Amino acid sequence: MDDKRSEFMERVEAKQGELIALTQELIRIPTLNPPGEFYRDICEYLERRLKGAGFVTELIRAVGTPGDSEKYPRWNIVARREGAHSGECVHFNSHIDVVTIGQGWTRDPFGGELIDGKIYGRGSCDMKGGLATSIIAVEAFLEVWPDFSGAIEISGTADEETGGFGGVAYLSEQGFFSPEKVQHVIIPEPLHKDRVCLGHRGVFWAEIETHGRIAHGSMPFLGDCAVRHMGAVMAEMEASLFPALAAKRTDMPVIPEGAKQSTMNINSIHGGQVEPEAGFTGLPSPLVPDHCKMIVDRRFLLEENIEDVEAELRAVLEKVKSERPDFRYDFTPIHSVIPSMTAKDAPVVTTVADAIEAVMHKKAEYVVSPGTYDQKHIDRIGRMKNCIAYGPGILDLAHQPDEYIEVSDMLDSAKVMGLALAELLTGTPAANQGG
Ligand SMILES: [Zn+2]
Repeated sequence: MDDKRSEFMERVEAKQGELIALTQELIRIPTLNPPGEFYRDICEYLERRLKGAGFVTELIRAVGTPGDSEKYPRWNIVARREGAHSGECVHFNSHIDVVTIGQGWTRDPFGGELIDGKIYGRGSCDMKGGLATSIIAVEAFLEVWPDFSGAIEISGTADEETGGFGGVAYLSEQGFFSPEKVQHVIIPEPLHKDRVCLGHRGVFWAEIETHGRIAHGSMPFLGDCAVRHMGAVMAEMEASLFPALAAKRTDMPVIPEGAKQSTMNINSIHGGQVEPEAGFTGLPSPLVPDHCKMIVDRRFLLEENIEDVEAELRAVLEKVKSERPDFRYDFTPIHSVIPSMTAKDAPVVTTVADAIEAVMHKKAEYVVSPGTYDQKHIDRIGRMKNCIAYGPGILDLAHQPDEYIEVSDMLDSAKVMGLALAELLTGTPAANQGG
């Protein structure tokens, strides 16, 4: 390995204490979303840090996006550092929000405790550890290659956990991710330090409502039970839809294995009277339910198109309608995301894969996320196709109690990120040439 690359690896190792402290400080700012707290605080913290590393920073509030209010403003930070010569821009994008704590914690969720090489806390893995890793990687890179060409950007963005509308979607609309401005995007989501995540499956959410007629529960024949109609919908889904989805396999390298097919979750069903409040000891009243609502969450593949996904669900309802007199329904699409997958030969993919091989001494694995993340906006709104997720951390720990990130994984990932920067911005090959 050439001298500069070895020097860079040593610098990353030397920054271990700094990396730990930075991760802990980010975890200690409790940026819970919803409702979207402390975005301004974390952006100001990042601004101080990145200005210290020579970045020009911009704080951008996504005014008027879902959730944005005077109480909970949607703040984002974009920081840019120009190189010594003109060239391409590499952008690291991390979301700054974390999901609710939930139950079952044995550690302080916002303490950032360091125990046996692991830093605990909500957002440690998803994805403040990844954010801290990218900052340390960039700082070490700047020390070794100060005369790089092009530019480096680091952003901290709001609301990824709730769709990204007040974060990357807004910034994409404002031109921050246009291919003229940014040529390579790395999103340090926790996909494991030796994997390159090329994209994600698609999403289609819909609300299905069946209608009935209210009547006295002792004479159901005088009414029409909306819950039984919904039962017929579910029976048809079991008989035809779920087997059809399981039969659709994808060539996308989706992880885990079970997500290499089309899937659908029934998120909720509500029919009849509302649940009594806790502590209410009375009996429910005898009524025939006059409506029933279901929310479905369909995840689809690059090989499918969204029109077919919608038509398939409508076909289930039409089939039930043809078999049940009085069956009436509404079908309302409520949310969708088109699948995204960056080509395996895209420059950011091959570079990061080379860097993984150089640091980890094994071939990079290519994966696709079963869910979605902010790449969808960078692809669809920003029109930027040269984008991946790559970062430290174990995906399964995201959103769990006692979430943690391993310090050694962050160090390895920082080395990968820095060697990728060296290849893209200085022409130093990440991996040894010619074996
Ligand atoms: Zn995340």
